[in-house]
Amino acid sequence: MSLNEFDLIRKFFMRSSQPEGNGVAHGIGDDCAILDVPDGFQLAVSTDTLVSGVHFFSDVDPYRLGVKSLAVNLSDLAAMGATAKWVSLAITVPKVDQNWLCEFSRGFFELAEKFKVSLVGGDTTKGPLSITISVKGIIPRDNALLRNNAVVGDKICVSGHLGNGALGLACKLHNKKINNPVSFVNALELTQPRIELGLLLRDFASSCIDISDGLIQDLQHILKQSQCSASINIDKLPLSPEMQEELALQTITSLESKQFALRGGDDYELLFTISQERLAQLKAQLAVSEMAKLPITEIGEITNASPPIVQLYEQGKPVFLPTQGWDHFN
Ligand code: ADP
Ligand code: MG
Repeated sequence: MSLNEFDLIRKFFMRSSQPEGNGVAHGIGDDCAILDVPDGFQLAVSTDTLVSGVHFFSDVDPYRLGVKSLAVNLSDLAAMGATAKWVSLAITVPKVDQNWLCEFSRGFFELAEKFKVSLVGGDTTKGPLSITISVKGIIPRDNALLRNNAVVGDKICVSGHLGNGALGLACKLHNKKINNPVSFVNALELTQPRIELGLLLRDFASSCIDISDGLIQDLQHILKQSQCSASINIDKLPLSPEMQEELALQTITSLESKQFALRGGDDYELLFTISQERLAQLKAQLAVSEMAKLPITEIGEITNASPPIVQLYEQGKPVFLPTQGWDHFN
């Protein structure tokens, strides 16, 4: 039996239980949701659209799409140091495919539950497959991690490993033959937002951004807004053990691995600037936290050349490599 719009919403997107204490005064089912923002906090809001054929393959596994579409939005909250609270979901589907919707919502809610976000509303329409998600988080007043506070002398650091998502994309898009494509395609499709790290960085970092369009391109947003430049040591780029294995097997070249790390989007790691002193304190605190295994790598430094440029160094010598990342209109 086919479902109408409201049955569909009820069946796949309304959940009877919500994460505890989430301030949902009035949830799905009315014209608006009503949400309680605790005293002393500000609301952080971010929206991202994922379009079939642009952000994902039209035949992508719907469970993975559910995970990724929420994850990329939560990543923006992570980059601001926000605690994720609420999400709305506008979904356009070409037809009512119950198996597809069931799997999509399973992935979506799995991540929502993990990060204790409540789905509080949305829109459901028919048309070419596209997903627009708006996440809302809270931040103690005037405590957000912004892009405009990097200072000359700050260290430039990244979390996790870089380039895995880009290699995964190369496997899917260009059918690149490597030893272990599954691990890279997983990195591309099963994004994990760095929410906990963002919360911790609020007390340490001077600026922060999530790497969605490529390390250098995203770094340039910080440089422009903070009016400074950067030197990056490409020998320090944190390549995953899996990437190093591919290098050892010569399925990818060293130059390719650097290009994936410098220009590839889809890693959703955090890039942040931090004073040397605070970096030492951050590392000490991380070591005794649940994030003890998350690598934090210093890859460069903020310099004061203007206009904002990124100078790459290899073995201490300046090198010039293409650094452009993803741009929808270019
Ligand atoms: P309206 O006509 O006021 O736009 P709708 O009929 O589109 O409302 O939606 C009915 C209710 O279901 C609203 O509360 C809306 O926020 C919610 N809703 C619609 N689609 C979704 C969805 N995909 N996920 C979560 N909530 C949804
Ligand atoms: Mg509507």
